Amino acid sequence: MKQFQINFTDNESFRNRLRDFGATCRKAGMSKYFLQIFSEDLVKEKLEEIGNIIEEELPDAEYFGCSSSGNIVNGQFSGSRVTVMATVFEKPTTCFKVLQYSFTHDSYDTVRKELEKEVENNPWVKALELYITIPGFSTTPFCDSLVWLRPDIQIFGGIACSDDISSPDSFVFSKEKGYKEHDILIVMYGGEDFHASSLFLTGWQPLGKKYRITKSDGNILYYLDDTLAYDVYHKYLKIKNDENFFMNALEFPLLYKKDGIDILRVPAGGNEDGSIVMSGDMAEGAVVRMGYGNPSTIREIGREQSRKIQEFRPDIIHIFSCAARRTFWVTDENAVRELKPFGEIAPSTGFFTHGEFIRVDGHLNQHNVTLVIAAMREGEPDMFSNFETPREEEKSARVPMTVRLANFVSVVTSDLEEANKKLENANAELARLNEKSNYFAVHDGMTKLLNRSETQRRIEGRYGFFREDPSESKGFSLVMIDIDDFKKVNDTYGHHIGDEVIIKLAELLKEVSASIPGSFVGRWGGEEFMFYVPGAYESFAKLQAEKIRTGFSELSFESIPNQSISLGVSVARSDEELDKLLTRVDQALYNAKHAGKNRVEVL
Ligand code: GH3
Ligand code: MG
Ligand code: MG
Repeated sequence: MKQFQINFTDNESFRNRLRDFGATCRKAGMSKYFLQIFSEDLVKEKLEEIGNIIEEELPDAEYFGCSSSGNIVNGQFSGSRVTVMATVFEKPTTCFKVLQYSFTHDSYDTVRKELEKEVENNPWVKALELYITIPGFSTTPFCDSLVWLRPDIQIFGGIACSDDISSPDSFVFSKEKGYKEHDILIVMYGGEDFHASSLFLTGWQPLGKKYRITKSDGNILYYLDDTLAYDVYHKYLKIKNDENFFMNALEFPLLYKKDGIDILRVPAGGNEDGSIVMSGDMAEGAVVRMGYGNPSTIREIGREQSRKIQEFRPDIIHIFSCAARRTFWVTDENAVRELKPFGEIAPSTGFFTHGEFIRVDGHLNQHNVTLVIAAMREGEPDMFSNFETPREEEKSARVPMTVRLANFVSVVTSDLEEANKKLENANAELARLNEKSNYFAVHDGMTKLLNRSETQRRIEGRYGFFREDPSESKGFSLVMIDIDDFKKVNDTYGHHIGDEVIIKLAELLKEVSASIPGSFVGRWGGEEFMFYVPGAYESFAKLQAEKIRTGFSELSFESIPNQSISLGVSVARSDEELDKLLTRVDQALYNAKHAGKNRVEVL
């Protein structure tokens, strides 16, 4: 691939340069090329005239472009408000196709469907380049919907813009559809010999603690950890909600975690209610962190990334850099300084955008204040090409104090976060122990049933209610249970077998209790249990007691024969003290034992 600028001063010189270009291509036998136009002027007629001239001079040439907030050529500003770049493909296998669709809130799903069809019909596609007009609605649903596109397809691009970055005006245009203000332009690249590699870089470093977005609506950020978003900015940075808000906050955007990567979102302005309008939308529940942009660190990260691009050995590079990033750099000289390392690798072109797109690990996202680099090549990398590593910039011997302070804050924050984590873990452990000790205070360790004092406490409570309202429904019955000839079990088979019998009985009691709403059961003594049955209904209580008796008699044990229990049943009376009831149920149980065991007696 080859890429170069068509320089011109007026229509005449443009015509001549196109003619020269056409002749050179014909001579070299190269017929596959396109022209790319970036324009800082949003004048429809001017662009249409450019289109007309191209069509007259190069009738077969494909062309497309968009409005921009600064045109980039070879890591510098192009030097003209309308920049025309020519890209020539050298391999016969390489393909490209330009698509353009209406891009509105109602049409983006149609775009997705059309794009899926195009990708399916053109299996050669390896990369998609997007040029979108300022949509005025969230691009997130559109981006997210492309997750189903073949995972090996790279996607990159930018939102068209104008040099007034607060203006909603922008356009894209192409040979087929012309100048449009609400469209998306998609360039498909591919073929056997075509290769692309794309990456993004911000350079902003995390600063301060992590916040969860507790309320947001599209790009309006309301609450971070339930604190008003503006209050968070004001607390840490003392940034006032005035006309300088954007410039002041630009140095400290939010790093927003989505799909595993940090996306920059800049506070564009504050609302009266304390919410902040962000440069892109942010989902509730996501984690954010304030970021700090230090010029020298950003440039260093840029140089690091340029080495990766260099290893790919591209023929050409496309650059999408954010207009807000240009603002961050304050001077144009600084703004292009970070593009230079890329410009030195291969002929490069691109523009300053309103938002940048890149697909990472299958997920396409709209970024802000970010640099997206798309490197392209035809054929295998030329490993013998003599390439110089971009010259290291002189590092200043003294690290600026702001960098050291930002580093200091980051380290203090991570120390605090670590200490906090330890505290949280200790608290969780404490809560767990507390719960455990509460549990053991009222439960019996061996059977996990309520212990005697808790059983008694609960019966006393219920008895109190019953005395206040002596109705049948507030009344209750007690069932007292004792294992028959249990001493023999212990003596014959050993204490551990005895324990097993007690535990199995306890499990059965729990099961029966679970089937009777409002009932509970506790371990009253060694092998004695007290079952509380709500309602002063003797027959019901007796039925439950019988159920327990037969249930237990059917239980089989590993090494001993089936066992039996005796049960006493008593219905509470409101004119009788609780002690009397307890004696009565004890007597009922005694009666059952006396009458031959393995039975239920009511008293
Ligand atoms: P009865 O049919 O009249 O109830 O005869 P019994 O042999 O079961 O007599 P009693 O209810 O008085 O027996 C209680 C025995 O239960 C005494 C004690 O050794 C035993 N025991 C109490 N708690 C436990 C325990 O946790 N594990 C075991 N294995 N035995 C226990
Ligand atoms: Mg006993
Ligand atoms: Mg017993």
